[in-house]
Amino acid sequence: MKLILMGGPGAGKGTQARRIAEKYGIPQLSTGDMLRAAVKAGTEVGLKAKAAMESGSLVTDDIVVGIISDRIQEDDCKGGFILDGFPRTVEQAKALTKMLKKRDLKIDFVIDITADDEELVGRITGRSTCSKCGEGYHTMFKKSSKEGICDKCGGELTTRADDNEETVRNRLGVYHEQTAPVLGYYGKKGALKEVNGMLAMDEVFNALCTILG
Ligand code: ADP
Ligand code: ZN
Repeated sequence: MKLILMGGPGAGKGTQARRIAEKYGIPQLSTGDMLRAAVKAGTEVGLKAKAAMESGSLVTDDIVVGIISDRIQEDDCKGGFILDGFPRTVEQAKALTKMLKKRDLKIDFVIDITADDEELVGRITGRSTCSKCGEGYHTMFKKSSKEGICDKCGGELTTRADDNEETVRNRLGVYHEQTAPVLGYYGKKGALKEVNGMLAMDEVFNALCTILG
């Protein structure tokens, strides 16, 4: 099963991708996570990506296309994968179609998790993640019992550098301008499905599973 999860920043792609990965036993490929790891490790890709990420703009297509093209050739992707945060431009979508076609493969599902902008801003400002286990928290919707500490594993909670209101507004603008057209690209191919991301997390997950079967 090869799946693309679409949706604006904070729509819940990452959370849902993790749950789908667990249920279906296929890896979650998050370009955001991979780029953040590259920035942290100070690799060449990381150095190139850092400024764009901090301002909420997109990293160049050649960088992310390169990352994904390498990643989907790894062994654990043989049974399928979930793309989370890629493709984010029509150019990236075309590059993906091409790299899959070369190996006689294609995407099975493209699902857009929809939510309105103000909801997204509210969700992102205030969220944090456990640096150890990846569990997500929020100052309004899901507080940890001890501030800054994960309830599940005791790990330290971290906030992303790009999760402040100004950068979030920029990410939303970029989403509408550069990423929304990707929905048109897959819509024309007849591959696009929609799930209401304003629902509770479990309901969104159920709706996704109904589509995936
Ligand atoms: P979001 O919560 O905004 O969806 P991500 O973790 O997916 O965040 O991505 C964070 C940042 O990483 C983006 O704002 C962008 O700078 C960069 N990035 C991630 N994926 C891509 C991509 N496919 N193309 C270009 N830039 C990307
Ligand atoms: Zn934890």
